[in-house]
Amino acid sequence: MALSYISTRGEAPEASFEEVLLAGLAPDGGLYLPSSWPALDEDLRGLSYADTAAAVLAPFTAGCFTRAELAAMAHATYAAFDHPATAPLRQLAPDHWLLELTHGPTLAFKDYAMQLLGRLFEALLERRGERVTIIGATSGDTGAAAVAAFAGLAAVDIAILHPLDRVSEVQRRQMTTCTAPNVLNIAIEGTFDDCQDLVKAMFNDRDFNNELRLSGINSINWARIAAQTGYYAYAARRLAGPVSFVVPSGNFGNVFAGYVAKAIGVAIDRLVIATNLNDILARFFRDGGVYIGDTVTPTMSPSMDIQVASNFERALFEAAGRDATQVCRWMDRFGQSRRFEVDASTLAALVGQFAAQRVDETATRARLRRTFELGQGQVDPHTAVGLDVAAALDLEGPVVTLATAHPAKFPDAARAAGLPMPALPPALADLYEREERYTRLPPDLDAVQAHLRQSFR
Ligand SMILES: *Cc1c(COP(=O)(O)O)cnc(C)c1O
Repeated sequence: MALSYISTRGEAPEASFEEVLLAGLAPDGGLYLPSSWPALDEDLRGLSYADTAAAVLAPFTAGCFTRAELAAMAHATYAAFDHPATAPLRQLAPDHWLLELTHGPTLAFKDYAMQLLGRLFEALLERRGERVTIIGATSGDTGAAAVAAFAGLAAVDIAILHPLDRVSEVQRRQMTTCTAPNVLNIAIEGTFDDCQDLVKAMFNDRDFNNELRLSGINSINWARIAAQTGYYAYAARRLAGPVSFVVPSGNFGNVFAGYVAKAIGVAIDRLVIATNLNDILARFFRDGGVYIGDTVTPTMSPSMDIQVASNFERALFEAAGRDATQVCRWMDRFGQSRRFEVDASTLAALVGQFAAQRVDETATRARLRRTFELGQGQVDPHTAVGLDVAAALDLEGPVVTLATAHPAKFPDAARAAGLPMPALPPALADLYEREERYTRLPPDLDAVQAHLRQSFR
């Protein structure tokens, strides 16, 4: 039976998976969640990564894609990853494993969902005989993963805005060296926030939106969250859970996928949020449920330099007993004063599922070095934040820390920690020699819209 989707703000009509996939954000400004949690009714023992991903995703796509269609798409997707296990577990200590989510084409965990999303979009748009334009803002990894996933697709154009000179060179080149004619890279003379504001303004411009049929694939898109549950299920199954996961976090999308896996029956114990200096989530738990926005501090783990964790709204909705009116009140308050406080029962529900801890820059550098000296190999700075939290917390039972990116994506961090330069994998070895293509524009809505119209019409 097809599952329907509701918004965390309670004012959007119920939607199908199909609508949720193409829309991203709900029309009332909320985030979509399934109207109830389906139960995983398949034994995952012995399944490959692709079959595990298809099994956990199937209940969410019922009525749109069958289990067999998903399996075919998942096999095609993950066959292109550069490790036979797709998401291998590397043992670091008797009860501690690293889950390597670094084997996709752009070397970050976002590939695991985004690559599959490209196939879902393609299949659905072909069936509907439609075309969409995907637009997104990126501080680095999302844009690279999206370009790699949607390049060359027949029914999709994609435009990614990144802040000029504010993404790492590897991240920029992963986007700008793509030669597919349906990909447009725009370097905005401004900040990530400017990029995000422009994207929002384009979505809110009804005429422009209708003309280009805009679609969003940032981490609030439900299909990305659902597709990320695959590796939680795969790791928990292989270690015969219940397993605790430590998740380097920014927008709360990845760790929320762990919550979803648990909700459908995967054996998960604790979900631990690891943050860098941008610690809005760690402060929320430390300060007894007070959520206070702050300015962003640049760190060596830039993909977590976020002070408004968009997907946290989903966890709040769940913890508040799915009370959309309450969620609206909190979000309004946050919009006005950058601050709200949850009630005791909501806080208790959150504390029952999640823990959070922050790691500063000195500790991150020390952890990068220590991991190397222990013979555990080189990790990227986001993963180092996770490993430092895992070491500090002394959790019981099997613990899995998520490796969210490959160290070669962040050579500056390796340099800062006095470590050797990590080499890019063979498929990207010539990245620094490839020709780049991007357009530089001011943070001006008219200029960006004119450029998109001219390129895609
Ligand atoms: C996106 C990203 C994160 C943060 O993930 P969220 O889902 O936003 O919490 C962490 N590490 C890396 C390397 C990333 O690219």
